[in-house]
Amino acid sequence: MKRGEMLYEGKAKKIYCTDDPHVVWVSYKDDATAFNGGKKGSIAGKGELNNRISAHFFEHLGSYGVAHHFVKLLSPTEQLARKVTILPIEVVVRNRAAGSLAKRLGLENGVLFPQPVVEFYYKNDDLGDPLINEDHIRLLQLAEPEQVAKIREEALNINELLLSRMDACEIILVDFKLEFGVDESGKLMLADEISPDTCRFWDRETGKPLDKDRFRRDLGDVEAAYREIWTRLGGTAHV
Ligand code: UDP
Repeated sequence: MKRGEMLYEGKAKKIYCTDDPHVVWVSYKDDATAFNGGKKGSIAGKGELNNRISAHFFEHLGSYGVAHHFVKLLSPTEQLARKVTILPIEVVVRNRAAGSLAKRLGLENGVLFPQPVVEFYYKNDDLGDPLINEDHIRLLQLAEPEQVAKIREEALNINELLLSRMDACEIILVDFKLEFGVDESGKLMLADEISPDTCRFWDRETGKPLDKDRFRRDLGDVEAAYREIWTRLGGTAHV
């Protein structure tokens, strides 16, 4: 597989085309941003850890029948993925109060919910990724109603699978963000990444955050936290 021209550079990844029109080459960067680009930095080793952690989660979810874009790892910081058109919706699943939800609803950080909460955000940097509901998605034609129903169901299924995967590592899965895409045949699948950049992971024993909140809130030891997640997942490097 040959790497072609760069199609897109995001905050944490670069996407290149390949000689297969249905496959893209994803290169994970050490760059970190938070607060809609208002805070910028670099976390040594993040690209490699997120590439490996995300590949691990996608393979795990795939083994339970979740359709996803991940194809294979190429190098410590690179992977191949199916080329999809990403729906401009961020899907957040929450098991406990934290971050923007705790603030918006005045809930105490860490409060466990009786059932998970699913939220949709409109992926639009100029608008600051506003919270939207299914009527707004229909109004803006961001996805078909059947796709939204499927996404909601799959997001809850993924939550159950990730909750038990992280429980086995003695980690609390507080919340996480997913993105979905559609391939050339119209098939809906999980895309983007699942990593400490996109999830809140707390150590079960101490409650210590092991995720991007360490960067957002200047808590220090960011790389060590990402590495801890990889180690607890039983991380072994195949490439
Ligand atoms: N999240 C993300 N990308 C975003 C916004 C949120 O990956 O652009 C993740 C975040 O890491 C957390 C969850 O989605 O695991 C919920 O984030 P929240 O809405 O609380 O926003 P935050 O407090 O992170 O700004």
